[in-house]
Amino acid sequence: MGYIEKTVAALKKSKYAIAFTGAGISAESGISPFRGENGIWNKYKEQLFEINYFTEHTQDSWSMLCDGFYEAMFKAKPNEAHTALASFEKEGLIKAIITQNIDDLHEKAGSKIIYSLHGNASKLRCIKDGSNYYVKFFDLKTAPRCKICNSMLKPDFVFFGEMLPEYDMHMSLKVSLKCDVMIVIGSTGTVYPAASIPYYAKRNNATIIEVNPTPSAFTNEITDIFIPMKAVEAMQNIRTLFYQQR
Ligand SMILES: [Zn+2]
Repeated sequence: MGYIEKTVAALKKSKYAIAFTGAGISAESGISPFRGENGIWNKYKEQLFEINYFTEHTQDSWSMLCDGFYEAMFKAKPNEAHTALASFEKEGLIKAIITQNIDDLHEKAGSKIIYSLHGNASKLRCIKDGSNYYVKFFDLKTAPRCKICNSMLKPDFVFFGEMLPEYDMHMSLKVSLKCDVMIVIGSTGTVYPAASIPYYAKRNNATIIEVNPTPSAFTNEITDIFIPMKAVEAMQNIRTLFYQQR
């Protein structure tokens, strides 16, 4: 059996399959990863995403965020890897998605149960009372403020120096310890603590399927089925074979 056949067989046999996604699933939607050659970090000052820099240089931070960052986030559309996961959720085949991405593309693709370990760029959050707002309703040229308490709003994604969102982290651990199959897509396994999540699944004897064009930190450690492809090609193949076999 090839790796696509093995993957479909494992998914069909599973009782509780979940997905774990990283930057690689969104690369084909035009979202640059934070790391690497064309990474966002190389384009902006790295300190832009540090919480202390943001609180001390708020207006400067917003000017930089307006300049390209949000535009790229708004423009991006889900690709066929995102939509395949959403249709597998509708089929009852995928129970939840844990994502390291902040681009909102799983939501846009129609997935419902999503745990966002690094928050979400489509929203803003009040630093004082935690109120959430959709970023699209704000003109970001001036630093936005909370409509309730007038405190500063920050992007609702995790900056360096911030904790991961407690609920999403808690639920990610919970579903990882419950799953019998985890499909890891486009995560290099280097950003902690998020990268620890697939290890919890493995500890519970889940079958780990990994989709990455080249081997990652997970591959030799925990991966059972390695699919050496980009996300879209792999998910198209899996989806096609799954529907053929029904
Ligand atoms: Zn507030």
